[in-house]
Amino acid sequence: MDKTKGVKEGLMLPLMEAFYTIQGEGVYSGVPAYFIRLGGCDVGCVWCDVKESWEAGKWPVIPIEEIVEGALEYPGRMVVITGGEPLMYNLNPLTALLKENGFAIHIETSGAHPFSGDFDWVCFSPKKFKAPHPSIYKKADELKVVIFHKSDFEFAEKHASLVQETCVKSIQPEWSKAKLYMDSIVEYVKSNPDWKISLQTHKFMDIP
Ligand code: SF4
Repeated sequence: MDKTKGVKEGLMLPLMEAFYTIQGEGVYSGVPAYFIRLGGCDVGCVWCDVKESWEAGKWPVIPIEEIVEGALEYPGRMVVITGGEPLMYNLNPLTALLKENGFAIHIETSGAHPFSGDFDWVCFSPKKFKAPHPSIYKKADELKVVIFHKSDFEFAEKHASLVQETCVKSIQPEWSKAKLYMDSIVEYVKSNPDWKISLQTHKFMDIP
């Protein structure tokens, strides 16, 4: 199949890497998962720790059947689709095929593009560098806001006012600012108990 057409239809996707590890962040922290990291992101976070993902053209374009075959090689049946920004692509075919093969499917997204795909868990992490598409707010199961600057608490509340009532709200220190903001984060959550703290535990475990 022609690659441009395949990507447009979501039948082929640029795959930066895929690996079996432990989900380190958010509500499912500690759970084994197969990560599918799609290449391409136009959000441009200054503190991004996967800047090499930004240019989609750098990564091989793979048929979704091959992506799913890779996931089936491991015993875990939870998949996390991440990036890059995975919602740059039509994720309907990939999620349908993962579902057919018995996977629970999660996504980590900034929500900067229209929503597609069928997910069991949507972790929405809005970024100041590109506004989310409105379609994300009804879909988000988890709102995870990275604290890089003191103004990010206000940014977190702005998005919290837009998600569904059932959405789990967490704030997470950006890794390089963790020491600077940890006390404020702890105090914030103690004073605002509808929030919880998410930590990048995979970085403490030194795993991908
Ligand atoms: S949205 Fe994610 S991949 Fe894109 S720049 Fe921001 S942190 Fe990096």
